[in-house]
Amino acid sequence: MAEVKPAAQALESALALLAAGAVVAIPTETVYGLAGDATNGEAVARIFEAKGRPRFNPLIAHVASMAMAEGIADFDPLSRLLAGKFWPGPLTLVLPLRAGAGIHPLVTAGLDTIALRMPRGFASGLIAALGRPLAAPSANRSGRVSATTAAAVAEDLGDRIRLVVDGGPAPVGVESTIVKVEDGRLRLLRPGGLTAGEIEAAAGIAVERQAGAAIEAPGMMLSHYAPGAAVRLDATDVRGGEALLAFGPRRAGGSEGAVAIKNLSARGDLREAAANLFSFLKDLDRHGADTIAVEPIPFDGLGEAINDRLKRAAAPRDGADANGN
Ligand code: AMP
Ligand code: MG
Repeated sequence: MAEVKPAAQALESALALLAAGAVVAIPTETVYGLAGDATNGEAVARIFEAKGRPRFNPLIAHVASMAMAEGIADFDPLSRLLAGKFWPGPLTLVLPLRAGAGIHPLVTAGLDTIALRMPRGFASGLIAALGRPLAAPSANRSGRVSATTAAAVAEDLGDRIRLVVDGGPAPVGVESTIVKVEDGRLRLLRPGGLTAGEIEAAAGIAVERQAGAAIEAPGMMLSHYAPGAAVRLDATDVRGGEALLAFGPRRAGGSEGAVAIKNLSARGDLREAAANLFSFLKDLDRHGADTIAVEPIPFDGLGEAINDRLKRAAAPRDGADANGN
């Protein structure tokens, strides 16, 4: 079972766990977060694993300073104004990801934008001490409500993580508001703890609440996950001109003829495979093969989310799926 430690005594142990690539449940002003080093793919994979999330949706990266934020994303003037006004606080900004920022692609689900937030309190001190951003979705099992107390986190995730930092009840109690500046317009991607009215008063322009904004949010679009090449799943052979995305110690027949091969995990470890998924798809795509053949990947644990992502990559192009998923 996870140890529950008061925030005042938890900094050193939380730091040690995060530096070792483990996940830690931490208090933030919105809800409790399940945090991992955003630059470490296996740490980020552990977040999905502990939550039992069936999908790799993009996560929010948490920063401790404007300098850290500017190293990760490109700020337009309006986003900078909003950060200046509401950070630290319950506002998340979606921004263009900077090349070489060091953010692991599993955090952004391979997107070229990143959701950034600067939290208050214990989380802020922890990130500053670690010197790296933390990826942190809400600290609850997939499909359950967000936890706003350490006891709720421990009850829900206690058998899956080592440490829950107790900072008392989360003062805001709901998730952050997510906005994105696009062509000088301000789009609300998710309502949350900061009201649209407060944002509008600061921005001087309207917040656009499009019906279907949630459906358009990256992570929901099939096309965001589609490489240029076609994708052929559950391949037990490699055909002429194909690149191979492999998994495990044994290769599909004809693999010697593959244009290129990347193995998600030679030892068949799903956490390692999750951490490699987005970058390996991109790598193989660069070889210019018409098709990427993908070896079968088991469905247990993180395999469900890996297969979900690959199925989207293999689906017909240019549209969100009918369910908005
Ligand atoms: P959670 O971390 O569970 O609070 O959820 C993060 C939210 O941020 C989800 O609704 C994501 O779709 C959204 N999000 C994260 N990254 C991006 C991004 N790059 N663009 C748009 N939305 C994002
Ligand atoms: Mg959540």
